[in-house]
Amino acid sequence: MCSGDFEDWKSGLLDKIKNITPTLATKLSAIGINTYWDLLLHIPIRYEDLTKVYNITDVKVGAVAQIEGEIVCATVVNKRTKQLQVQITDGNEIITLIFFHFYPNYVSQYQVGKKIRAFGEVKAGFGTSKSIIHPKVQSVNYTPNLSNTFSSIYGTTNGLKQNQIVKIIEEALLLLDQIDILPNNLIANLPKMSTALLTLHKLTPKQFNTEAHNEALTRLKMDELIAQQLILYKAYELKHNNESTVLKPRATYTRMLLDSLPYKLTHEQTKVLGEIYADIAKPTQMNRLLQGDVGSGKTIVATMAMLVAVENGYQAAIMAPTEILAQQHYIKTKQLLHKIDIEVVWLSGSLTSKQKKTVYNDIKTGVAKIIIGTHAIFQKDVEFNNLALITVDEQHRFGVEQRLALQAKGMNPHQLMMSATPIPRTLAMSYYADLDISTIDKLPPGRTPIKTILINSGRRFEVIKFVAEMCSKNSQVYWVCPLIEESENLDLQNAINTFNELQDSLNGFRVGLVHGKLKPTEKASVMKEFSEGKIQVLVATTVIEVGVDVPNASIMVIEHSERMGLSQLHQLRGRVGRGSVDSQCILLYQAPLGEIAKRRLKVIYENNDGFIIANEDLAIRGPGELLGQKQSGLPALRFANLDTDLALLKEAKELAKKISIKYPDIATKFISLWFNSSEHFLKV
Ligand code: ADP
Ligand code: MG
Repeated sequence: MCSGDFEDWKSGLLDKIKNITPTLATKLSAIGINTYWDLLLHIPIRYEDLTKVYNITDVKVGAVAQIEGEIVCATVVNKRTKQLQVQITDGNEIITLIFFHFYPNYVSQYQVGKKIRAFGEVKAGFGTSKSIIHPKVQSVNYTPNLSNTFSSIYGTTNGLKQNQIVKIIEEALLLLDQIDILPNNLIANLPKMSTALLTLHKLTPKQFNTEAHNEALTRLKMDELIAQQLILYKAYELKHNNESTVLKPRATYTRMLLDSLPYKLTHEQTKVLGEIYADIAKPTQMNRLLQGDVGSGKTIVATMAMLVAVENGYQAAIMAPTEILAQQHYIKTKQLLHKIDIEVVWLSGSLTSKQKKTVYNDIKTGVAKIIIGTHAIFQKDVEFNNLALITVDEQHRFGVEQRLALQAKGMNPHQLMMSATPIPRTLAMSYYADLDISTIDKLPPGRTPIKTILINSGRRFEVIKFVAEMCSKNSQVYWVCPLIEESENLDLQNAINTFNELQDSLNGFRVGLVHGKLKPTEKASVMKEFSEGKIQVLVATTVIEVGVDVPNASIMVIEHSERMGLSQLHQLRGRVGRGSVDSQCILLYQAPLGEIAKRRLKVIYENNDGFIIANEDLAIRGPGELLGQKQSGLPALRFANLDTDLALLKEAKELAKKISIKYPDIATKFISLWFNSSEHFLKV
């Protein structure tokens, strides 16, 4: 197979490597090996050193080594279980090889006088003698020469033998010279990819743990990162080539809104708004992520952007991940626009079919100008008149499929994603590289800092007393009980118990309860009473996590804070500190604390800045989990590690840009080589 045909590397595993039978191919497929390329990337999980033979006397107990000698005797011994014991000697000392699993005919293979090599971990045997349990054995008669490379040990699966993998990889390595697709001069400081792979598969004792070994690994990571960056670059290009509506501010509705606000936009808000305006004034689709900490004032920015669409005669929509959050957006938007005469509609799965029909009709005819709801707004029955801009709140909560459904509406509306979970730089550079990012990194003025207090739940009654005192001073309180999926009913019971307990001990104050099992209308009415100050204490499961805005609420009590994630805690804490009074966040925890819980609580106690917290979260959880691999739609990295390979990532990003521009054909080849089946990502 020296045709050099690139396509061969992506397929044809079976035809091209003669040692692969269809049965073997099925087994390889089970461990993700479907192509030549996959086979080459199946690098050893460890190495065994069979390049040397040690004197039995020289190997210490605990060492992993190869020794050689003549068989002295081979006997089956009946201890607790049957075992085969083979003693060999190199003239100076005897060592015992022990096998617990053996077929009867094995015994005859160990004829006295035969010379064999045995490899394994040397253990203390009986008395002063040494032994090796289940050594790897070779007859010296058959393989007299020692190998000069390590023996590679590969990851394998049921029914796939180590020596089978070794054999087919040996065969694949013969064709290595054809895989250097990237121009060599671009990555001159590292070995060629073919050299790197050869080094890793056939590592010599001299190379082990040296610069050469390290550089080979680095090259592998580098190419993987370049491939990832190329795919993101392409996704960026595709998205930014979608045609969309040109929207320019007309200073009608937008002016009216600005004039009606009790405050001025901050410098930060004006800056990001300028970035958004510049995007939507182009005939191509905006794909912008607006990130800003909880309470940083993203809502008004999004509303301004939507009004630009409306004052140009188009529709705009907001999609939020939960019913309660979508409803909050609806209420807030109505409030913000109360002086402006445009139709804002609410669309959710829980509307009656009659209500839906009216709303659908208003959306279709264009009477509805701003449409707010959950993903219900992208069901197939919903037909827009002329949607030009869509805001997606808490975008990381939506999966790839929902984002695709949005795109499939056909009109390529400008997209403004919002997130209150700031994306750490490594992630922004890798998984979100297909979006433009605007950041609000200062909160609006007039905020009072939130004091965070950690209290052992044994002192709960003191907290209740404090809450009573604060209520008598006209403060309002959130009391959050976490919801853990496995025991939803139990947790609901906790919330109900807490509700009863607080009602009993807070005489004269009204306590409300809101949880996921309530009907949306019930939830909404409790929330309304709370925001109007008719309820002083709101007991809630974590349904209030995002977006709820009640400025008079100044105390946040979180039960079982040790069970919650960092970003969740930060989001919850951000519900208070929105008005002018001093705010407190009381974290109740159940001792004893595990290591991770301790670390998390320390971070939340010491930090108020969402970016720092997000970075710590990344450090504790790792990028995969933080991101939700499934939601990113991108294949996971196998070799590079975002926590430790930041410098490489930066380099790969620059190289990918260069390759995309100068060598577009190579870019396409390289992407399909690495990510055979990830094309769907490009459509999102
Ligand atoms: P988030 O970014 O979490 O969505 P919001 O948009 O809900 O934040 O804003 C939080 C609070 O800050 C709201 O009560 C809003 O009225 C207020 N706010 C927004 N912008 C400003 C500003 N420029 N000056 C003062 N207060 C502001
Ligand atoms: Mg918000």
